[in-house]
Amino acid sequence: MTDYQASYYEKRGQKLVKSLLDRGFDACYCENKAAALEKALSLIPQGSLVSWGGATSAQEIGLMDAVRAGNYRVLDRDTAKDQEQKLDGMRQALLCDVFLTGANALSLDGQMVNIDGTGNRVAAMCYGPGTVLVIAGMNKVCDSLEEAVTRARTVAAPINAQRFPGKTPCRAAGACGDCKSPDCICNQILITRRCRPAGRIKFILVGENLGF
Ligand code: SF4
Repeated sequence: MTDYQASYYEKRGQKLVKSLLDRGFDACYCENKAAALEKALSLIPQGSLVSWGGATSAQEIGLMDAVRAGNYRVLDRDTAKDQEQKLDGMRQALLCDVFLTGANALSLDGQMVNIDGTGNRVAAMCYGPGTVLVIAGMNKVCDSLEEAVTRARTVAAPINAQRFPGKTPCRAAGACGDCKSPDCICNQILITRRCRPAGRIKFILVGENLGF
């Protein structure tokens, strides 16, 4: 990252932190992955039950590895023996202490957009876990809510679809076809515009490109 890119991200990051605080979220800006990891771990109490969903950015800063190695109780659906156990883990994650996740897009005025196929991630954002910790690179930040929705639908979702074997137009063509396919991964679109109770959702904005 060049100095002028870092300066651009830092200025937008500070503006977004203020917008998020105005809406009842907790928020801070970290200039790089290492600082973000340190900050994230400071927000997770020892002994907490920790889980996650849709958290590529958290993975990229090393947070999952640190949590697995630390003094936490971890609910990791990826270690499930079969689909039934995986689904059960996803339900149990809705009552964890700290849920780690990411954002498909953010608007500079402090709103978050997320798309979900199964719904477990957006469900956890809305209600359940005591704390939701969102790790987001500044590449996710758009100037307006409209642009954030467009980013989530036409950039984040088609890239995410490449991870799955389903037959969707975006997987074949690399662009959203606004499908109603049985394999569609865009079944829920959540806009989180305020935080209640205040401080339940905490953002760590990172001055680097993370996730997709
Ligand atoms: S084509 Fe379907 S699955 Fe793919 S991004 Fe569009 S709505 Fe989502």
